[in-house]
Amino acid sequence: MSREREKHIPYYVVLDALKQSQGCFLCSLEAQSLDNYFETLLYEHVNDPDVRKNLKISAGYCNRHASRLVKQGDSFGTSILYSDHVERFLDEIENLIVSRRRSEKTKREIWCNHVGCPACSFQFETRRRHIEVFTEWFDESEMLDAFHKGTGMCIPHFFDAYFSLTKKEKREQLCSIVRKKYEELRDDLRELQRKNNWRFSREPVGKERDSWKRAVDFVAGGEGLF
Ligand SMILES: [Zn+2]
Ligand SMILES: [Zn+2]
Repeated sequence: MSREREKHIPYYVVLDALKQSQGCFLCSLEAQSLDNYFETLLYEHVNDPDVRKNLKISAGYCNRHASRLVKQGDSFGTSILYSDHVERFLDEIENLIVSRRRSEKTKREIWCNHVGCPACSFQFETRRRHIEVFTEWFDESEMLDAFHKGTGMCIPHFFDAYFSLTKKEKREQLCSIVRKKYEELRDDLRELQRKNNWRFSREPVGKERDSWKRAVDFVAGGEGLF
């Protein structure tokens, strides 16, 4: 079987993201997957006993994912999901002083850190699959071309991809393309700073205009993803 015939839907999903994303294509894919996840949850699974049971373990979603849930703007569905945790907290506070069943550490893990957040598990699995597809195919001509022309990848995703590659040549190839992207970004930042000087401030503004935002996004990773 030729390699051409082994390309499946995930390959084209990653390729499209490379061609169309404005920032890091892996961040775009992850953000889109999470939005779909919450859309489906609110549309179909708010009353699913298993979903509610899993959410009990972590007392709702972690801070990052709770914000993403709220952005969906579903007041009714969200109120159903979160009634559980408010009710449970009222029980918890009622018994807090007399009960010694759970340690401070456990309570913090559940109520402060939301350890076991189901959206975290979903996101990390999604990330793993996207990185796997990308690293398997990025040196293939169509994907490589899109990678060269694309806007690049954030530093956290770069390291995920880099460390999942085992062959030295592949690591070198990845580094060489990513280095070029970051050199362009560095030049844009320098240009922005140069034009900040009053002597050059009348020069027309170019693609350096939003380089300060791109720099933050690329160093930190996409909003709410890391
Ligand atoms: Zn990214
Ligand atoms: Zn989470």
